[in-house]
Amino acid sequence: MALSKNVMKVQPSATLAMSAKTKALIAKGVDVVNLSIGEPDFVTPEYIQEAAIEAIRSGKTSFYTAAGGLPELKTAISQRIEAETGVHYDNKQIIATTGAKFALYLIFQVILNPGDEVLLPAPFWVSYAEQVNLASGRPLAVKTTGAGHKVTVEDLEKARSPRTKALVLNSPQNPSGLIYTAEELTAIGNWAVSHDVLVISDEIYSNLVYNGNQFVSVVSLSEAIRKNTLLVTGVSKTYAMTGWRMGYVLGNPAIIKAMTTVASHATGNPTAVTQYATIAALNGSQADAEKMRQAFEHRLNYLFPKIQSLPGFELDEKPQGAFYLFPNVKRAVELCGYSTTEAFVEALLEEAYVAVVPGRAFGQPDHIRISYANDLDSLTQAYQRIADFIQTKG
Ligand code: PLP
Repeated sequence: MALSKNVMKVQPSATLAMSAKTKALIAKGVDVVNLSIGEPDFVTPEYIQEAAIEAIRSGKTSFYTAAGGLPELKTAISQRIEAETGVHYDNKQIIATTGAKFALYLIFQVILNPGDEVLLPAPFWVSYAEQVNLASGRPLAVKTTGAGHKVTVEDLEKARSPRTKALVLNSPQNPSGLIYTAEELTAIGNWAVSHDVLVISDEIYSNLVYNGNQFVSVVSLSEAIRKNTLLVTGVSKTYAMTGWRMGYVLGNPAIIKAMTTVASHATGNPTAVTQYATIAALNGSQADAEKMRQAFEHRLNYLFPKIQSLPGFELDEKPQGAFYLFPNVKRAVELCGYSTTEAFVEALLEEAYVAVVPGRAFGQPDHIRISYANDLDSLTQAYQRIADFIQTKG
């Protein structure tokens, strides 16, 4: 039987595919250093675990909650976002979903008609384009000319057409680690308002910011920009909760209502236990989250100069947030005698036992993504293995 046209356009997630290949090698007993992962390597803090256990023990598992999340969860989300951005959202402007990934999926489902275009400044996170395809929209990669892979108003204006419906902004950015300044966001936010382009602001890494850099949420910049923006975030990265699956969106109540309707026919509510765990995460002390942030900062400062020094690796801007490095490796690929980044990455995995992700899925085929969500010993080993690999091949 033929599959749907939308599904046939969709590629499996490159990051999950790499991760699966790596895990299969590890299961065979191969000692692979896995830098392909997009998940914190920490355990979910104990106070969050305890809240979940308490929810299970007290029987908060045998009922459906409201499809968009418990009212007390929405209140906890609202209070944390207000503490972090200074912006207040009412409960009717909030939906909790099964991960930020599903939140984004729902957004595209409810805003796009066939052929509507969504601007994706490159590099972009792998799932945006495929989710737009699944909603019959057209993902448009936007070439970025700003420092550190940032998109400018001029770049966006070049890509805009009468079909442009939305722009996905991601700061701090996966994979480049860049953070947009208030000035840059104001220019982009005002451009979007003036052309009626909805801003989808993916702020999932907003608490993973390093070395005194500042994160600014685009929604904090003006009333007009806030009204034209959907803020997407979640607990996966800040609280080491990737496996719990909890994300949320704040913004236009009509869009939130439509998303809730679709969710009610898709997943229903996000897992009840996860909702209670999230309430604890958001309302509790943020000390554990801060400890994890500091560990990531230390790793970035350790690994960045090492990766920068590798022959044929180009990495000019030091990442300010998230937990990835995104060097251009075009010269290293040539030096080692490969014709594509994919072949280089495959050889790194199979011969040097280091897993990274090729940049093509992020819209920049000459780059690779290296995650530093791993301990310092593993990062040292990975660096040494890549250096030895290049020396042997080059
Ligand atoms: N957005 C970005 C940029 C991400 O990197 C990720 C996860 O890797 C997500 C969204 C989705 O996060 P989750 O579905 O775990 O909440």
